[in-house]
Amino acid sequence: MKSKDDPINVFLPKFRTEEILEEIRICLNKGWTGMGFKTNEFESSWSDYTGLNHSHFLSSNTVGLHLSLEIFKIRYGWKSGDEIITTPLTFVSTNHAVLYSGLKPIFADVDDTLCLDPSSVINKISEKTRAVIFVGMGGNAGRLDKIKKICSDKKIKLILDAAHMAGTYVNPENPAHVGHEADATIFSFQAVKNLPTADSGMICFKNVKDLNLCKKLSWLGINKDTFSRTSTTGSYKWDYDVPHVGFKYHGNSIMASIGLIQLKYLDEDNQRRNDICQLYDHLLSDESKIMKIETSDYTHKSSRHLYQVFLHELPRQKILNNFYKNNIFPGVHYKDNRNYQMYGPIQDLPKVEYYSDRIISLPLHLNMSDSDVEKVATCLLGIIRTNE
Ligand SMILES: *Cc1c(COP(=O)(O)O)cnc(C)c1O
Repeated sequence: MKSKDDPINVFLPKFRTEEILEEIRICLNKGWTGMGFKTNEFESSWSDYTGLNHSHFLSSNTVGLHLSLEIFKIRYGWKSGDEIITTPLTFVSTNHAVLYSGLKPIFADVDDTLCLDPSSVINKISEKTRAVIFVGMGGNAGRLDKIKKICSDKKIKLILDAAHMAGTYVNPENPAHVGHEADATIFSFQAVKNLPTADSGMICFKNVKDLNLCKKLSWLGINKDTFSRTSTTGSYKWDYDVPHVGFKYHGNSIMASIGLIQLKYLDEDNQRRNDICQLYDHLLSDESKIMKIETSDYTHKSSRHLYQVFLHELPRQKILNNFYKNNIFPGVHYKDNRNYQMYGPIQDLPKVEYYSDRIISLPLHLNMSDSDVEKVATCLLGIIRTNE
């Protein structure tokens, strides 16, 4: 039970417990908890929901980012040390994936949507550029349409880190779920994302040949999966070949069961997130010191994974410390990755540096009541006034 003294955290997932347990029970009773069965069902439900046809269920978004690069390396002959243009304003998974594959991250600047700035991307393109990884920050699609055009003009791949984008729709003239733009789009169903399971993710490809290789690489490089070897003929066919050194990256039927139930509520849940954001907008609208992140014309409906604000002058740590005293725990998405030993030095990207020092993610989740939202907003306004 929720009490009024509970802390208000930046995230707290909500699960339809009974319905999920019923779905998991089906797997346990059948004796099939691994890949196949519910993972197949979830892949087709996800494809129906998004319109992205070539989907494969994985154990996380991180492994999907890595797989996309491994697949493109094999299929398009990339070499170690080839360059991938990416953002430093992201969760480290995005950039770790580039290092896992022996490729070189080249950092570009963001614009006021906190997504990659097309003009900065153009400046970073070289002979060795093979792909751009675009992160849809907080569900915002930024200038993804422009980035797509740049990638097709320059004949480089576009990978979309859609960890925040389950339920983001783009292109107001002809709305569609985000992801059709990219050669590979990777969603996260980690515990605090918009479609929470515990840990899992989905990769969707433009090209079915990339999907077919992905199915092998996510299952150790084996050329047939156990479920189809077992279920299509009724008898277990033990023999297979291993054409690649693949990975153990596929998803399982327990996670897929959770995902199948959560997917039914995704649009409804994102609508509630949107209502919370509008309430924040309304409550904070009179305070001109609180700045908001821009959305782009290309974004039709954001998944509203985050509600981010920034203040020009007041030091962020001071604001956060005041929140903590009131039992409110906002987040920061994200610290410029070049602060980390793996990724320095910090240079040349003024917007990344500016926002990295200032952005705050206010609590936003489905267990919040309107009065929780009011409490957070009142607290922020109070902090600003006492520091004037
Ligand atoms: C959460 C997140 C990831 C990693 O997702 P996992 O499913 O936890 O591996 C990658 N990129 C971004 C932007 C994220 O927020």
